[in-house]
Amino acid sequence: MDLTSPKTIKSIAAKFGFTFKKGLGQNFLTNPAVIEEIAEAAGDGGVIEIGPGFGVLTHALAERAKKVVALEIDERLPQILEYTLADCDNVKVLNCDVMKTEFRALIDEEFKGMSVSVAANLPYYITTPIIAKLLEERLPLKDIIIMIQKEVAERIEAKPGTKSYGAITLLCQYFAQPEIITTVSAGQFVPPPKVDSAVLRLRLLDKPRVTVADEDKFFKVIKAAFSQRRKTLLNCLSSYFNRPKEELAKIMEEAGIEPTRRGETLSIDEFAKLCDML
Ligand code: SAM
Repeated sequence: MDLTSPKTIKSIAAKFGFTFKKGLGQNFLTNPAVIEEIAEAAGDGGVIEIGPGFGVLTHALAERAKKVVALEIDERLPQILEYTLADCDNVKVLNCDVMKTEFRALIDEEFKGMSVSVAANLPYYITTPIIAKLLEERLPLKDIIIMIQKEVAERIEAKPGTKSYGAITLLCQYFAQPEIITTVSAGQFVPPPKVDSAVLRLRLLDKPRVTVADEDKFFKVIKAAFSQRRKTLLNCLSSYFNRPKEELAKIMEEAGIEPTRRGETLSIDEFAKLCDML
């Protein structure tokens, strides 16, 4: 069964009376080369897949991995996956919401002694919350390989001083090394989404990229810095933390950061230094 063929997708949908739910981000990938690339990057250990759909990526993952656990929220899909993945004996499908999944417990129970990666063609309506959950829970993961909106992938990979650089860049680069593996046009999906996509690899770092005394404060400073993009960092910090500008300007100068700079120009090291001095 060629699950990358739009014809096969349509015939499976017809066989099971399945209609695509836009609200669940159901855009199924049909490019075999991209599927192979994601599966190759996910590797031969344990793999957690988010949103298997009809199982096109699950199948490719299962060919390489020791074990695949696929998390699917749509209660109509486990039955279809039983049919499409009938020849895979190393796949477990769980009918659950990724946002409510206890990943640490899942990894302990399902992947003892294996290195674990996450692979997914993500549902785009919750891209950022999923990425934040996977990183902030400090899970024992090797890589996260995800198909996401191209624009979001570019933001995650961005350098300081560019328009794309923002809070999501710093969150991802604090915990991981990002790399765009390939870009994929909207026409490679059934049905096509409104935007182009990219496959992003986040290689988890052994320890965060910078050391800060208070991680919560670090992310609050970042949030404040990007809260009003047109304002200077000084104005953003002063209104967010409700602290006098003179006091903040002095701290910033001591940290070697011109108060007139904008948040998007600060490197992650500068954010760390500023955070520790505030
Ligand atoms: N993996 C398939 C592919 O590449 O063709 C389908 C990917 S489709 C973009 C996203 C999948 O995520 C859909 O199957 C959708 O039902 C599922 N999904 C949406 N929200 C979810 C959630 N909160 N938890 C788990 N799965 C979810």
